[in-house]
Parts: sequence; structure tokens; C-alpha cells
Amino acid sequence: MSARAPIRVTIWNEARHEQKNPIVQQIYPLGIHGAIAQGLADRDFLIRTATLDQPEQGLPQALLDDTDVLLWWGHIAHAEVEDGVVDRIQQRVLAGMGLVVLHSGHHSKLFRRLMGTNANLAWREAPGGDLERVWVVEPSHPIAEGLPPMFEVAASEMYGEPFDIPQPDEIVFMSWYSGGEVFRSGCTFKRGRGRIFFFSPGHETFPIYHDRNVIKVIGNGVEWTMQSHSDGRILENWHRPEALPSP
Ligand code: ZN
Repeated sequence: MSARAPIRVTIWNEARHEQKNPIVQQIYPLGIHGAIAQGLADRDFLIRTATLDQPEQGLPQALLDDTDVLLWWGHIAHAEVEDGVVDRIQQRVLAGMGLVVLHSGHHSKLFRRLMGTNANLAWREAPGGDLERVWVVEPSHPIAEGLPPMFEVAASEMYGEPFDIPQPDEIVFMSWYSGGEVFRSGCTFKRGRGRIFFFSPGHETFPIYHDRNVIKVIGNGVEWTMQSHSDGRILENWHRPEALPSP
């Protein structure tokens, strides 16, 4: 329908569980990044993947400059992400690049830097997982488009409140777990010119990124965090006002 160019999406994954844990290897033979890329294949996205163990930790400046929306999945190697990499991603977000932070990415240097908080939360990794019900609490939001009022993730890691984040601009999803906990599982933020979406379902030992509702949320999140004005250009974070005509 739209004549616009495909959204240039880079899916970054720490990709360490996949190297060590046979359960994760079995669920995600292509890696978590590969499963998300496959899930999003029918969207009008130009998808690339990047991982921590690649040169420049997978995210050289040239790739970031060519990225409209970055997805971030990390867990056990947050501390290995170099501050210089975090610096350049932060600057791209402030200039208008979209960012979708997934699951344990809440504790990444990047997310904590952008939030200005520790982003701690309550959690439980129960054997077999918890049932999670993801409720749409902002049905008019573009990220909720095409989703039922509630969908279930049969086996999930519980992420609960209090979630140490600044007040989100919007809470699109709230989750309930079989233990009775609740969590702001889909939140939006703006930083500089950039839009950020955090979405929590996605624990590595459960096949959550094979769930079509979860993938739909992520795809919608990519489209929402992509902004027409970013248009591939690095926008200056300040500018001189043009001279106004004399009154
Ligand atoms: Zn997890």
C-alpha cells in the first residue's frame, strides 16, 4: 500500500545461551535473533541480524547509521557490551532511530542508560514456567493492532512489579501470571527524537518467539518506533532557528 521503502531492521542478540544450552539450541536452532527474523519475514522489513561476538560487537557505526529500528535481546553478557557501543546506540536513538528492547534486555546497559534507572523487577523462573496472560490495555495503540483483547503465553518466566522504570509514556500491555503477579509488560518511552518500546515475554528456554501473537507485537513495535522523519538521516540534536520574518 505504502510507497515507502522497507523499514531497515537490525535484530541484535547477545547469542550466548544458544552456544551453551542444549534446550535453547533445540528451541532456537537459528538463534533467538534468527527466530525473530523468520517470524517477521512477511513484514515489509529489510532485516539484518547482529550478535555480540561479531567485530565491533555486531554494531559498527555504519550499520547503526543504516538502521531505522534496532531490536535488543541480551541477558548473561550485559556487562560485556562496551560503553562505546552503548554510547553510539544511545546517540542514534536520540537522533530518531527506533529501539525495541526485549525481555531480559531490561537490565542491559543500553536500557538502563536510556531510562536513567536500574530497571530492576521481581522475577521467578518456575520449572515449566508460569502461565502468562498478556492483556491489551491500550487497544487504540498501533502496537496493539490486530491483537485479541488478551492472549496467553503458556510457559513464561514471571516478571513482576515493582518494575523500576520511569513512568512510561504509554502502557500498551499488562501481564498477569499464574502466581497472581502483574507486570507492565509493554511500555513506550520517548528519548530525544527516538521512540522506545519494551516488551517482556521472551525467556530463552521457552518457545515464546515462535508465538504468532508475540511476533505480531514485535512487528507492530518495529513499525511504531520507526518514524517517518528519521528517514535514514542522522538528525542533529540541536539546530539554529531560522530567522523569522519581521513583524
Ligand atoms: Zn528470562
